[in-house]
Amino acid sequence: MVTTHNLGFPRIGARRELKFALESYWKGASSHEQLQKVGVEQRARCWHNQAALDLVPVGDFSFYDHVLDMSCTLGNLPARVRGLHDNMLDNYFRVARGRSAADVQDHASSCSSVAAGEMTKWFDTNYHYIVPEFDAETGFNLDSSRLVDQLAEAKAAGVTAKPVIIGPITYLALGKAKDGSDKLALLPRLLPVYASLLSVLAAQGAEWVQVDEPILVTELDPAWQQAFLDAYQILNRGVVKLLLATYFGQLRENLPLVGLLPVQGVHIDAINARDEVRHLIAASPPERVISLGVVNGRNIWKTDLQATLDWLEPLSVHLDDRLWLAPSCSLLHVPIDLAVEQKMDAEIRSWLAFAIQKLEEIQLLATALNIGRAAIATELAANRSALISRRTSTRVNNAAVKAAVVAITPDIGRRHSSFTVRAAKQATLLHLPVYPTTTIGSFPQTREIRQARSQFKAGNISEAAYKKAMRHEIEHCIREQEKLGLDVLVHGEAERNDMVEYFGEQLEGYVFTQGGWVQSYGSRCVKPPILFGDISRPKAMTVEWFSYAASLTNHPMKGMLTGPVTLLNWSFVRDDQPRSITSYQLALAIREEVLDLEKAGARIIQIDEAALREGLPLRKSQWHDYLRWAVESFRITANGVRDATQIHTHMCYSEFNDILAAIADMDADVITIETSRSDMELLDAFQTFSYPNQIGPGVYDIHSPNIPSEPQVITLVKKAAERIPAERLWVNPDCGLKTRQWSEVIPALTNMVNAAHVLRAKGT
Ligand code: GLN
Ligand code: ZN
Repeated sequence: MVTTHNLGFPRIGARRELKFALESYWKGASSHEQLQKVGVEQRARCWHNQAALDLVPVGDFSFYDHVLDMSCTLGNLPARVRGLHDNMLDNYFRVARGRSAADVQDHASSCSSVAAGEMTKWFDTNYHYIVPEFDAETGFNLDSSRLVDQLAEAKAAGVTAKPVIIGPITYLALGKAKDGSDKLALLPRLLPVYASLLSVLAAQGAEWVQVDEPILVTELDPAWQQAFLDAYQILNRGVVKLLLATYFGQLRENLPLVGLLPVQGVHIDAINARDEVRHLIAASPPERVISLGVVNGRNIWKTDLQATLDWLEPLSVHLDDRLWLAPSCSLLHVPIDLAVEQKMDAEIRSWLAFAIQKLEEIQLLATALNIGRAAIATELAANRSALISRRTSTRVNNAAVKAAVVAITPDIGRRHSSFTVRAAKQATLLHLPVYPTTTIGSFPQTREIRQARSQFKAGNISEAAYKKAMRHEIEHCIREQEKLGLDVLVHGEAERNDMVEYFGEQLEGYVFTQGGWVQSYGSRCVKPPILFGDISRPKAMTVEWFSYAASLTNHPMKGMLTGPVTLLNWSFVRDDQPRSITSYQLALAIREEVLDLEKAGARIIQIDEAALREGLPLRKSQWHDYLRWAVESFRITANGVRDATQIHTHMCYSEFNDILAAIADMDADVITIETSRSDMELLDAFQTFSYPNQIGPGVYDIHSPNIPSEPQVITLVKKAAERIPAERLWVNPDCGLKTRQWSEVIPALTNMVNAAHVLRAKGT
């Protein structure tokens, strides 16, 4: 018999119950007990949704982040929160967000708000975790209470629990040694705590423990490979069976290592690493459980049940009871329930599966393997017709778009002249001073803007009334920028709720969910749009707003677009063609918009590639291929314009060291990046690699309510000028201003513009 299980379930709630409970607690509007109660209810709901599985994950629920949970379990919260009173959960939130509910309620204790832990992306997902902090002195202390309590709850709920923890090597690898010390040196201190934890879990009745070691799908130094061998030798003490879980990619050179580890089971991502499954089985001891992640936990498409069974049946015969089935990874990265999407186009909806539907697929596959395909004949037929409908739908396939991608030639991604020639032509036309000032695009999304949008969407105001309201906002935004004395203006993006959604809604080939929330970090969720078909642009998307804005002023107005790679990386995309093809389709559609903007008189066009870096594969050996088509996509989008048209791009980071050549290859005339927090140190990369074009390193940290002073801005620009020639520098904020208040933006930009004036006067 095949065993079914799951690696993790979305915890935020189908109606984002956890989000609202957390935010209410943080505001001081609800009690600790009320929050704990929501936690209990949420877990019960998660288990209820998974009740058909043989083994249900326990410990995947989190009030903020599962990596931070592990830090608590291991007694590794940063020293800065340790002496603080209140309950454990408040200290946990202090690490997560810099403050707890208690700090808000009791102003006298404001001294207890602390620096929040650093947050970074969980592998190549859009989920962010709190980075564990280490130094040479770090010690560990077991606190198993969270897992013990939840195991008791699970038992009461009548499910067979499989506790889930992050494995010791991945835990160390994901953390940061604040003093630069060797993290692996901590392993001898860490392992006894893990060993005790496993004993506690066994004492609670757990037969299996899922130990997540996704770091195994990345390139590991020999010392880290050896650490795996040492660690699992110690952890394998026979008290409990270990299911080593790997996901998000292939094992490659780590496969023999996984073969050798003394664990009773291994989970492998059979979506990304299907070709490795047979090798893994061959490399494993004969009694080892092999768990196959056969349903994609990273996208929202239905699984091809028949094809999966064709592949699984011989393996099932071979493995027999040793075969387990699961999604490829935790379902944290997909929305919970498709049943919520009652307004979605029925045809498209029939192609999709969210978390609950994915678990149903696992159950169906297991039934077919256990008692034969005939037992699920009806479901198989329905699955088959859904797949055929998707494959053949005219909504998915647009011959003209496919032909256009095939017809792409290298020259369409190339500017006519070199940067130097272009820069001279642009300078004559634009008449910009040295240290030109600009912003990244959006201005505050005020309550009035949001209200107008939601009223329009609800049908309470007419399109004409909505447009009038937006034009009013645009005019206000332009007048403010004129008063501030900025050199290059923007229209302010009032009409955009989100930089991907805005374009997705106007492109053919995209669909939107009503409730497809996915946790991004803490209480924050995003609703990634679904890119289901060939992409085309029925009509211009931004020209009307741009033209209106440009008509109001004599200053240069930047056209403002989202780039193809960012649209791709922030959406659920097709699995029926390579990402590169989808990216090229997006590129061709946005290229048309670029050319329309140029025709409408735009002399500067910014194409945001906020998420270009996010798409980098987990393995460095695969970076080259990604960067090749990602950069080419940008070039196709941007480079059809005349020499005199200035192309800007913007990226929300500046860790460029390893991809600078690719960034330079995009050949944007100006690139704006996020640097203010790093005190321009991140620009060091530009010392060794001389970036050829113009750069606007951010001088205003828009993620903070702090207002940069004029001297602070001057210092930052001067530091930048040590690394990049002054004549190629722009002065701008780190990113868009949509999340800030006008009351913050005005003084901050006033200081920024004044600083530029001072620098110009000095001639520095
Ligand atoms: N133009 C966008 C804005 O200003 C860019 C946002 C981003 O890079 N995330 O909001
Ligand atoms: Zn940005």
